[in-house]
Amino acid sequence: MESAHTVASGSKLAEAVLSESGQNVNLCYQCGKCAAGCPISYEMDYKPSQLIHAIRLGMDDLVFNSKTMWLCSACEPCTTRCPQEVDIARVMDAVKITAMRRRIKPTIPEVASFNKAALSNIKTCGRMFEIAMIVALKLRTFDFFKDMGLGMKMFMKGKLKLMPSFTGAWKTRKIFRRVKSIEKRNQTA
Ligand code: SF4
Ligand code: SF4
Repeated sequence: MESAHTVASGSKLAEAVLSESGQNVNLCYQCGKCAAGCPISYEMDYKPSQLIHAIRLGMDDLVFNSKTMWLCSACEPCTTRCPQEVDIARVMDAVKITAMRRRIKPTIPEVASFNKAALSNIKTCGRMFEIAMIVALKLRTFDFFKDMGLGMKMFMKGKLKLMPSFTGAWKTRKIFRRVKSIEKRNQTA
């Protein structure tokens, strides 16, 4: 979001984030409220506020080698707490998208595999069909036995359906087609 308070940092990465997400990280004044409210920050190598600062400084290597954006769960306490109305969750997404556009390998490949498996599953079934998603994820990661016990427990409690419902699947596919055409248009603009 552009504003009268914008301070240009000259960082190409900050510009890429702005163009991808509409979020201007140069509004950040490092109050640290985003980091204080993040429930996962204890697992992150750089706190959300530190990652924002690194983007402002154009420290591409640090940002793309960080695990922070891949651990982000898009839960948004950071976004709601930011006094400068920077949508940090969207910034995290924009950094991941920028990394993928630049063909930079994710620092946590399992998360990228999960995202791909989940999106492909939702595109096909209209909503998450967990069993197919788990199979697709296992085929991507070759980690066939991880969380098997948890999966069995969920199955026994009836939390995993054997068949997808396909309810509203055509609407979901329409959304995917629309997003793809917007992305294409943005790339050629
Ligand atoms: S959206 Fe990401 S960065 Fe923000 S609080 Fe949630 S996990 Fe932390
Ligand atoms: S809450 Fe907003 S202003 Fe404060 S450090 Fe985080 S991004 Fe910057």
